[in-house]
Order: sequence, then C-alpha cells, then structure tokens
Amino acid sequence: MTATLIDGKAFAAGIREKVAAHVAPLKSDHGLTPGLAVVLVGEDPASQVYVRNKGEQTREAGMASFEHRLSADTSEADLLALIDRLNADPSVHGILVQLPLPDHIGEAKVINAIDPAKDVDGFHISNVGLLATGQKSMVPCTPLGCLLMLRDALGSLSGLNAVVVGRSNIVGKPMAQLLLADSCTVTIAHSRTRDLLEVCRGADILVAAVGRPQMIPGDWVKPGATVIDVGINRVPAPEKGEGKTRLVGDVDFASAVEVAGAITPVPGGVGPMTIACLLANTVTACCRANGLPEPE
Ligand code: NDP
Repeated sequence: MTATLIDGKAFAAGIREKVAAHVAPLKSDHGLTPGLAVVLVGEDPASQVYVRNKGEQTREAGMASFEHRLSADTSEADLLALIDRLNADPSVHGILVQLPLPDHIGEAKVINAIDPAKDVDGFHISNVGLLATGQKSMVPCTPLGCLLMLRDALGSLSGLNAVVVGRSNIVGKPMAQLLLADSCTVTIAHSRTRDLLEVCRGADILVAAVGRPQMIPGDWVKPGATVIDVGINRVPAPEKGEGKTRLVGDVDFASAVEVAGAITPVPGGVGPMTIACLLANTVTACCRANGLPEPE
C-alpha cells in the first residue's frame, strides 16, 4: 500500500486565496487593511528566511506588512518598548515576534507583553488558557495547519487515537489541545516516553514534532494511519554535490509512505500551512478588533 500524499502546498494556497477574498471587502467596504507586524531580533539565517516569506505572503494577500529588524544586542527593555508601540498602533492587528530570541531576552516576558488580541501566534498565556478551556482564542499557526489538514483528510476525528510526539509550547502541547477538542483520545510523547515504538503503533493519527531527522521509521506507524510530519531538519545531501543539504522531516518518509494511509511530505506539507494560518489569524484579529464577522 502507498499512502495518499497530503499536499500542504496546495492546501495553503487555497487558504491564502480565501484570506485574500476576505481582505478585499474589508478594504472596499470598511476602509480596513489587516496589518501584521513581524519582529526579528538578530541575524539567524533560518529566521530571516521565515520573516521574508511572511512579509511577501502578507503583501500578496493584500494586507499590510510591517517588518522590524533589530540587532542581536537589542535590550529586552527596547524590545518591550517596541511591543508597547505596536500594541497601541491601530494599523497593526497582528504581532509576531520571531523565535528564538537571543539568550539575554526573556522569551515568556516578551510574548506575554503582546496584547492577546494581537497575538496571532497564539503563544500568550491568555490564549494558551483560552484554548485549554475551550474558549475563543488565537490558535497557534502550525498546530492549526495540522488540524485543518487532518479534518480535510479524515472528516470527523472523534474517537480516534492521536499520538503527538513532542511537548513544546509552540507545537506539541497546542496540537494535543486541538486534537482533544476534536474528541480524539490523545497521548503526548516526549524524550522520556517509554517504548515509544508501541505508543506510536497505537496511533490512528501520528503527529511528529521532535526536530530529529527521520527518527520515526515506517514500522512505528500503524497500517492506514494518518501521519503529520511537523519536523524540518536540514541534513547533508552529498548526492546533490559537495556541501549541499536537503530538508527532511522527523518521519522516515520512504518507509512510512508504504504503511500509512495518508502522510504529509517534507517539504511541502506542514510548512506552507503555518504562514497561511498566520495570515488567516491576522484577518480574524482585524475583524474581532472592528466588530466584524470573522472568516470561517
Ligand atoms: P522543541 O525542541 O521545542 O521540542 C521537541 C520535542 O521533542 C520535545 O518535547 C522533546 O522532548 C521531544 N523529543 C526530543 N527527542 C525525542 C526523542 N528521542 N523521542 C521522543 N521525543 C523527543 O521543538 P519544536 O516543537 O519547536 O519543533 C519540533 C520540530 O518541528 C522541529 O523540527 C522544528 O523545526 C519543526 N517546526 C516546524 C514548523 C513548521 O512550520 N512546519 C513550525 C515549528 C516547528 P522533551 O520535552 O522531553 O525534551
């Protein structure tokens, strides 16, 4: 058996089209342009690529993009002052601080300084609490993208066994909350989990968010399971030439695709969905701020 490929690239393009279709009447009928501010501290090359892509896709959807690039030695106080200004700026509906931050800056302090209504990453403690208690919140973009793909692939998720490998605040934990809210029976696995193989084999839905290249082989996958690979790992690719690299997920795609019912590739799976959901969250924030109906 060969699994169905879940095409995150095409799915994300569809979401971006819907976002753009929602943005147009906000402008023409209400004079509103949803605005996303992205703050990058330092010169981390991967973060620079993410920030550039976010800016481009924001503008392509007809929204306003405000990029704030600060030097790596920016003080915590200066960053907090910028967040205050963005919180007060009515043209900014969403604020995203690109992680990781340099060591001298307290990540939690900065995230919790963002107005929760503008916290389009959904990492503010208020949004975390709202999500955990089933109330309207801003939902973290990567897990939201995974959930949308799962619903599309499976329809109802009710009663399915879901295993999330990874317990980070930005992926694993919110992913587990979303699956629980969709009535899955959820297991969260992590580096101390005993017999991870058996845990994974029980999963109708297996979400890998670990950051270890190809650590989940096909024989850990239950036949017919739906596999969502969040991992983005750069590994050497000598076959492409000296010093070349390629991206792989946390799942060993070649063996898992033979066992799973459906699977996301890397690249082209979860990755494109994250920015699409960020744009959708920004439009939602703009609508909420102005008392207008939210996109579905
Ligand atoms: P973190 O490093 O914050 O968390 C990794 C998690 O994996 C931890 O909970 C850790 O457990 C667990 N883990 C580590 N080793 C093992 C192991 N051997 N067995 C089981 N669990 C293990 O990573 P993130 O959640 O931030 O990211 C995970 C991956 O997803 C990365 O590859 C990242 O690049 C990617 N990512 C992709 C995004 C996208 O847009 N597609 C967005 C965000 C992340 P413990 O808590 O016990 O240490």
